[in-house]
Amino acid sequence: MYITKYARKVTVIVLHDVGIVDCNRASAEKAFNNPKIEFVWNSVLAEIKGKGEVESVVVKNLKTGELTELAAHGVFIYVGMIPGTDFVKGKIELDERGYILANEQMETSVDGVFAAGDARVKYLRQVVTAANDGAIAAVSAERYLDEEQSFKDEVVNVDKPVALVFWSPASNESIDMASRLDALIAAAGGKYKVVKVDVSRKKRIAQKYNVEVIPSILLLEKGELQLQLNGNVDDDTIKAQLKI
Ligand SMILES: Cc1cc2nc3c(=O)[nH]c(=O)nc-3n(C[C@H](O)[C@H](O)[C@H](O)COP(=O)(O)OP(=O)(O)OC[C@H]3O[C@@H](n4cnc5c(N)ncnc54)[C@H](O)[C@@H]3O)c2cc1C
Repeated sequence: MYITKYARKVTVIVLHDVGIVDCNRASAEKAFNNPKIEFVWNSVLAEIKGKGEVESVVVKNLKTGELTELAAHGVFIYVGMIPGTDFVKGKIELDERGYILANEQMETSVDGVFAAGDARVKYLRQVVTAANDGAIAAVSAERYLDEEQSFKDEVVNVDKPVALVFWSPASNESIDMASRLDALIAAAGGKYKVVKVDVSRKKRIAQKYNVEVIPSILLLEKGELQLQLNGNVDDDTIKAQLKI
């Protein structure tokens, strides 16, 4: 139906018996009544002919074996609507039809696994949207690897316990608390390494530790959570809780 908007005539080659098509009845009736569409039943495409561009096709009748050549200017292989996602089935979240669920950043249900293109649940499956997804997925994957590496370098593989402070440029109190924490720990002889996480740029670390309140302070040892202070806490509370 869609191709008849652009083509003078559309020939649909169907491998089933007369009148049987793999779509709902309402769409089938519309197609049968469209004067631009003709059907060739019990047949498959055997060959596409042409020099540089399509000039004709050879159609094979599956019942008689007869080959018929039809003039054509284009061929659209209707490959069906089953996404080839079996290799990730049971590993990442799919919808009931087998399409991969991925968010705006192309993140799937599994940390570090990204999806792009027709295999995703999406509104429009076209080259331009697939390329768009691909660009986003590539940037997301690059940021993911970068965040993972800097987390290991700055938080996990360090000698001291780490005081992670989650702040955001949109929250003045979080900026203030980050510098107060810095000063308090410095005054106490640098018992902890202070790492400041800007949640507007690095959301993953906050998600990893379920940090929902900005500011928050987390005390970690080799990446393991020891203590969590949510909200804008005063100096005395910080000193008492961090034992500094
Ligand atoms: C007949 C037809 C006409 C179309 N016409 C247009 C059009 O005019 N304009 C338009 O914008 N879009 C059109 N589209 C849609 C467009 O082709 C797709 O939206 C686009 O190609 C999707 O890109 P993709 O990279 O997600 O998937 P694909 O282009 O399908 O690429 C996926 C690739 O992954 C490979 N692959 C699959 N499984 C595995 C595996 N397990 N391991 C390794 N590789 C694997 C496949 O072989 C394939 O090469 C058309 C589609 C069809 C079928």
